[in-house]
Amino acid sequence: MNPVLEVKGLNKAYGGVHAVQDVSFNVSQGELRALIGPNGAGKTTCFNLLNGQLQADSGQVFFQGREITGLPPRKVWRLGLGRTFQIAAPFASMRVVENLQMALISHHGRLRQLWPRADRLYRDQALSLLTQLGLEEVAECTCGTLAYGDLKRLELAVALAHDPVLLLMDEPTAGMAPEEREGLMEQVVRLVRERGMSVLFTEHDMSVVFGNADRILVLDQGQVLADGTARQVQDHSAVQQVYLGSLEVPIDPDGQEES
Ligand code: ATP
Repeated sequence: MNPVLEVKGLNKAYGGVHAVQDVSFNVSQGELRALIGPNGAGKTTCFNLLNGQLQADSGQVFFQGREITGLPPRKVWRLGLGRTFQIAAPFASMRVVENLQMALISHHGRLRQLWPRADRLYRDQALSLLTQLGLEEVAECTCGTLAYGDLKRLELAVALAHDPVLLLMDEPTAGMAPEEREGLMEQVVRLVRERGMSVLFTEHDMSVVFGNADRILVLDQGQVLADGTARQVQDHSAVQQVYLGSLEVPIDPDGQEES
């Protein structure tokens, strides 16, 4: 099967700092792929290069077989490569359902055309998406009053409103309590499996990574250190050195590694 995303020899330097150095990898359709590495490894730079926020010094990015290197974020987004950020930032004074309606209106290109009737547009679709993410009870709340976990879920709903083929998620569980993290990741896994979409996510919580990712890409000092399944990465001696033995995450014997 052709990969949804293919990255070839990507480079980005800031003066003498090689933030991303000769990085190549791919993401398959329907895959939940983790991108990990210690602080400063180049994860955020890599994301910014993929969605067009940064221009690469060299290298190529292909999305669904089409080269997207150098395209601006708006065009990359329109092609179906979405992104969520570490810090969720919806319109605080809007109600939750309205926020999502705005995303759907924007996705369908009707922002200018039908503004006077905006309150009724895509309301059913918005409510259905909110239900999928367990947000139906807060649909009429203003975003500014939401608990942090619900804000992160709303950000995910907004990204899903654009029906992405591949979603880049920058630390989806950052700032959440451990039990909330599990819940969110379960929803992400379900969405990936049900929609057949792909997700590439960065994450510092290793149990979230090793418990959920189909494959893991490890960066260190801008370079690919390892790339493979949880078992392959966990057993990789260079990875163990970088993490000083902190990767002793038990792999579920009934999980993908053993089946
Ligand atoms: P973290 O996990 O801490 O968010 P990261 O893996 O996302 O780190 P990046 O933020 O991509 O790492 O940074 C990679 C390297 O590039 C670091 O050495 C960082 O200091 C450097 N860097 C990133 N952005 C800039 C910039 N705008 N100007 C100069 N150096 C930068």
